[in-house]
Amino acid sequence: MEDGTIVLTGSEGEKHYTRTVILAVGMGTLEVNEFDSEDATRYAGKNLHYGVEKLDAFKGKRVVISGGGDTAVDWANELEPIAASVTVVHRREEFGGMESSVTKMKQSSVRVLTPYRLGQLSGDEERIQSVTVCHTASGQREDIEVDELIINHGFKIDLGPMKEWGLEIEEGRVKADRHMRTNLPGVFVAGDAAFYESKLRLIAGGFTEGPTAVNSAKAYLDPKAENMAMYSTHHKKLVHK
Ligand SMILES: Cc1cc2nc3c(=O)[nH]c(=O)nc-3n(C[C@H](O)[C@H](O)[C@H](O)COP(=O)(O)OP(=O)(O)OC[C@H]3O[C@@H](n4cnc5c(N)ncnc54)[C@H](O)[C@@H]3O)c2cc1C
Repeated sequence: MEDGTIVLTGSEGEKHYTRTVILAVGMGTLEVNEFDSEDATRYAGKNLHYGVEKLDAFKGKRVVISGGGDTAVDWANELEPIAASVTVVHRREEFGGMESSVTKMKQSSVRVLTPYRLGQLSGDEERIQSVTVCHTASGQREDIEVDELIINHGFKIDLGPMKEWGLEIEEGRVKADRHMRTNLPGVFVAGDAAFYESKLRLIAGGFTEGPTAVNSAKAYLDPKAENMAMYSTHHKKLVHK
């Protein structure tokens, strides 16, 4: 608004009036990348899974996991001791997962197929019985019998309506200066939502950015405010306790 008030409208239409906003929306809304096939839609929620809710459901089963990131590698390692067999199908030679987890997976009984793509899903109305995998270079195909198929093809990330605010966005995130200010007056950012050179997308990163954004918001409202962190060590009330 002209006086600098920001009006935020929630999804139910409710309005919030404020002079400062700290965006801590992570990567925005996350939606799993579904396997693009009509069969996948038919089997989703039956024996095609995009996540693992109960490990026990995979006990003694022949499991195929498609994907090569942290999630695929972690589930392969978790399921290996309890499933009848685990096969990981990944379209690249290199895995994106943590090095120690990838090594653990490769040294276990998990069958690792790279560089392979997941192809056709075959089965009856209710369940997938086999999947066809295809070598990305030679085109060589193999049918693998399966009881449970897990797809871990990453997430779609979306800042949603925030993309229309006029924020400077880079790599899907909001550009921030070292004070966690965005290009919009009164709008600050912290955590995974922030983009700046050397940004670490870790919980520890957000620990500093949060207080910095709060300090900057306070300074925006009250330019004379001291930009100083309060030490709990010297805090009178805490010392007393
Ligand atoms: C698989 C995986 C493993 C990880 N492992 C580690 C690890 O071991 N150690 C580590 O330090 N970090 C790890 N991370 C990174 C860590 O999770 C993030 O750095 C951290 O969660 C970022 O915190 P955040 O508060 O900025 O965002 P988030 O934790 O993503 O929180 C953002 C919140 O905002 C909400 N939101 C989004 N859009 C809107 C909207 N329009 N309106 C309202 N709410 C909204 C979201 O629903 C969410 O609740 C991992 C991340 C992933 C994906």
